[in-house]
Amino acid sequence: MPPIRNRAGRSRAVQWRFTPYFGSTIASISMGESSCPFTVHADLICKSSPYFRKKLQGNRKAIEGKCSICFDELDAGNQQLTFCTTCGGNFHDDCAKQWFKQSRGRLCPLCRGIWPRYQANPSIRLLSLRQTDFELYRDWLYSGQVTYNHAAEQDDFKPMVNAYLFSLYVGDIKFGTAVLQAMIDWYEDKGSYPDQDAVAIAYGTYEDGDAIARGYKVNAANNLPGLHLLQRFLVDTYVAVAHASWFEDEDWSCYPHEFLRDLVVALYYKHPAKNKWNANTWKAELEDEEKDMQGRN
Ligand SMILES: [Zn+2]
Ligand SMILES: [Zn+2]
Repeated sequence: MPPIRNRAGRSRAVQWRFTPYFGSTIASISMGESSCPFTVHADLICKSSPYFRKKLQGNRKAIEGKCSICFDELDAGNQQLTFCTTCGGNFHDDCAKQWFKQSRGRLCPLCRGIWPRYQANPSIRLLSLRQTDFELYRDWLYSGQVTYNHAAEQDDFKPMVNAYLFSLYVGDIKFGTAVLQAMIDWYEDKGSYPDQDAVAIAYGTYEDGDAIARGYKVNAANNLPGLHLLQRFLVDTYVAVAHASWFEDEDWSCYPHEFLRDLVVALYYKHPAKNKWNANTWKAELEDEEKDMQGRN
């Protein structure tokens, strides 16, 4: 939907409540050996993830702030946007068209680079991402929900932990927050806690890691604030259900050393009587963390 000009001459986006607008460029993304590509609106995914923006749109700048032609806000969810492939500057598609008409040429208003007549739908193959993580991610991009089949997966937190590591990999902090919130809700509803495999993935000691898992692990190790948040959540779920007899029965030798150390420290500092599980506190903290991490990026 192009921006509509009001009488004052400033353009305003039409707010579509039920049919958000994601632009007209469709990216097709293949993963691993699969011959069946996923399709996704390029602006939608590129706005959310710096990783995909780099892969699909090269040097395009972050889709935020104002259009350099009309100085109105850029909103990938409501407006058709376009960008210069030379300098990466973002504009409203309508403003760019108007500009070309007035200037009688197809040169970028910012850098004077030649503007191509036609922007092709990009197509890429990514060997470093897991297909199941991407499916969860794509569903979230369109619905805002982390859809997870609790019944089928039962108490398996592994897919969620993997999805969180995926969020760190593609640099999508909002998605990471949504995944952690889904885990918190699940923990609240079911009272089930992540098993040793989920913990091992989060602590980087899971044995049968393929190349993708190794890539996630290396990336997570370079993104400690995000990784520590996940680890802290896992430790907290254990602290909340800890019971003295549990430490006699459970085979702790298969848990990562680092996790056990974190668990002991947490138990020491959080006396069980003071440590009632509180979903609201967690969610409020998550929001603060997200703001913090966004500030750092
Ligand atoms: Zn504009
Ligand atoms: Zn330019």
